[in-house]
Amino acid sequence: MEPFIRNDQYNFISYQTQVLINGYATVNDLSVLQALKGLVQDKVTNLFDKLSPSQQTVLKPIEDIRDTEHAEDYLIGLKSYVIPFPTVNDHAVRKLFPKVKKLKTPDWEDIDFRDISYLGWNDYGQERKYMIAEYNGELKGFRGTFKNSSKKGICTICNTFSSIGFYMSESKGSAQGTFVKKGNYICQDSDECNDKLKNKEKLDDFILRINH
Ligand SMILES: [Zn+2]
Repeated sequence: MEPFIRNDQYNFISYQTQVLINGYATVNDLSVLQALKGLVQDKVTNLFDKLSPSQQTVLKPIEDIRDTEHAEDYLIGLKSYVIPFPTVNDHAVRKLFPKVKKLKTPDWEDIDFRDISYLGWNDYGQERKYMIAEYNGELKGFRGTFKNSSKKGICTICNTFSSIGFYMSESKGSAQGTFVKKGNYICQDSDECNDKLKNKEKLDDFILRINH
């Protein structure tokens, strides 16, 4: 079977397994647990526009999860159905940032492309963050200034409380000499951000905003 689960959907499902584990750890009432199971099952199914019978079979065992061990087995099984982010390498990255002279590229050996919805990395020496994301079905590179914030806060992309920094895209305004500042607080560590991202719409909104 072809992979059919996006990284953000996988993260959402992983979160739902935690909801079940917490439920079984704290609730004794069987009818309440039954209702919780149904709710989780619905939420997972509703992530997808359409599911084939075999895809439903892959997802269905979530209703049997009661503890961490169950959840881990289930999630390991799901991982092989996760759609990887398009594979990029140094060459592809350089093509996406043709104007950047001393381009720092990601540490490829740390990246599992199934674990990311976007590729993001920092060049702290230059106070820059680089991002590669899909935009209108194509990969696009984004470069902005990035300053770590001393306080934790909510990331615009993954919407969780994290160590964040202020990302400001470098875009030229339409009138000559003007500089449009489009900024947002996002996670310092983009790999962690990708782990926490449960709704790709937030990422798409962010990309739309910084795109120029
Ligand atoms: Zn984030």
